[in-house]
Amino acid sequence: MRTRTTNNTTDEVARFLKTLDRAAVTTHTGADGDAIGSAVALVLLLRALGAEAVFCHREPVPNYLRWLLPNDPLTQCPPDHDLLVTDTSRADRVGVDHDEDHPVRLNLDHHEDNPLYGEHNIVDGGAAASAQIVAKLYDELGVPLEKRQAEAIYVGVCTDTGGFRFRNVSPEAHELVADLLRAGVVPAEVDHHINRTGTVEQLKIVGASLANAERYGEVLISTVSDADYERTGATELDSKESIDRLRTVAGVEVVAHLREVEGGTKASLRSESVDVGEVARRFGGGGHRLAAGYTTLEKTPEEAKEELLGILEGVVDLGASADGGTP
Ligand code: AMP
Ligand code: MN
Ligand code: MN
Repeated sequence: MRTRTTNNTTDEVARFLKTLDRAAVTTHTGADGDAIGSAVALVLLLRALGAEAVFCHREPVPNYLRWLLPNDPLTQCPPDHDLLVTDTSRADRVGVDHDEDHPVRLNLDHHEDNPLYGEHNIVDGGAAASAQIVAKLYDELGVPLEKRQAEAIYVGVCTDTGGFRFRNVSPEAHELVADLLRAGVVPAEVDHHINRTGTVEQLKIVGASLANAERYGEVLISTVSDADYERTGATELDSKESIDRLRTVAGVEVVAHLREVEGGTKASLRSESVDVGEVARRFGGGGHRLAAGYTTLEKTPEEAKEELLGILEGVVDLGASADGGTP
């Protein structure tokens, strides 16, 4: 795949979008609110421009985001469609198959470590969410926001900022949200879809994850294993919800959520001050400076914890002992 060293401008990408007749939009594997929100908003923008546009993704879309979808997701990019990708930091995390014959024609993202793997690239590390970049394209193309489109953008911005609480929040993000509300978004309705359509099983796995949390000085790590899924009836992804609760503990600089997946353990890292993107890259993963992830193969969550502590040892104070070390 051709890799560029410079970004395209908003104007260049807007002009490129106008040339498309048939496009399929996908996003990263393990999709989150910004992944789906930005991809759906881009599908709707292309339709407003008169193109045939569909959403595609090989993995099932999480329940709490399905209400946003413009079509039943195709599991592949149709051969006669151009492939566009949102919120995806690396080519190997793209949600459908792609190759030289079916290249990524647009890579739209806000991860600062994105290597510009698309034919066209619009990557802005200063954007709070990829959905914010899609909103800029609506503006550039003079396409007015309708409620559905505004909701998709709102979901991206709201979820990637942790409900407007994280360090990526900016005046621009809030100004955009004001426009989204004017276009008809009702935050309480969106909150209902996202935060009030869960299950008791999800609640129990979050509880299990929190109960498993152990502190090592400035680090707090929770692990979730297959036994926890069996006991609660929940899935791996459901347990990730707990990560924001882990961040509530005073004096903790890095939180990690390590969950068993087929073939190994998936890690989510969060911090207020430490470059956890760099830590994730040490394990072949990536992400943002303060929110990152990776998968470590053939390791149980407990083994993954040891491995992670080995790396964090040089980065933060791990205290004297487990689960009681004071920072
Ligand atoms: P997560 O913990 O899965 O919510 O991911 C946090 C951030 O890190 C997101 O921006 C992801 O796109 C990114 N990320 C997670 N896992 C990986 C990975 N294996 N490789 C690269 N980036 C990742
Ligand atoms: Mn994402
Ligand atoms: Mn994002």
